[in-house]
Amino acid sequence: MIWRTRKVLIISGLLLLFVIICGVPYSSAAEKKHLVVIDPAHGGQDIGVKITESVGEKDVTLAIALALQKELAKEGNWEIVLTRDADKAISFEDRRKAIAKIKPDLFLSLHINAGFGKSAAGFEIYYPGFKDITDQKKQVKDGQKDVKNKYLNDSVRLAQILKKNLDTLFPRKERGLREADTPILEGMNIPAVVVEIGFATNPEERKKLLAANSQSEIAKTLAKSIKLFF
Ligand SMILES: [Zn+2]
Repeated sequence: MIWRTRKVLIISGLLLLFVIICGVPYSSAAEKKHLVVIDPAHGGQDIGVKITESVGEKDVTLAIALALQKELAKEGNWEIVLTRDADKAISFEDRRKAIAKIKPDLFLSLHINAGFGKSAAGFEIYYPGFKDITDQKKQVKDGQKDVKNKYLNDSVRLAQILKKNLDTLFPRKERGLREADTPILEGMNIPAVVVEIGFATNPEERKKLLAANSQSEIAKTLAKSIKLFF
């Protein structure tokens, strides 16, 4: 009898463990809203890179950001906030203040690259540098250091997911993941990256960046990557 009771106990214990392992993540994922801030860079007077006579980087980053917002909003558990949803100038400082107030779970800034001749092509992904942590003079407390480390590691993970997915959209066009002091990312305690989507100075990529269908392809790829991150 004792043996039998034990067996029953073990089986119920295993069942309970199974329910905990399988059940909890699903239920919490369904309830928790992911708050994401998308930053279409530039705007207003600041056109960014000139893509054609009438279209600037600010227009393409906004079009992709709006498409990305629409893509993620198809599922219920996402809240997407844009740093701008129209053609207006917003300073770095105002963007940073808005982000600090919103406290999102993820931050993605969108840019378009240019230069290095017509042949330069491909996307680049920047994540915040680890310099802050290793800088002894800043005397970051150990606890804070762990928190910061976690966010930086998350940013690298997000950058790697984006790279893998963008690789399928821009095959063999990856220019690398770059650790850099990007002003918009500075001091941000959340997973955060900047994506330079492609080169406006490359004829083939310029076509891709301007076409509505490829803008939506890019948005879908970014949405897929963000979903994979969570
Ligand atoms: Zn830019």
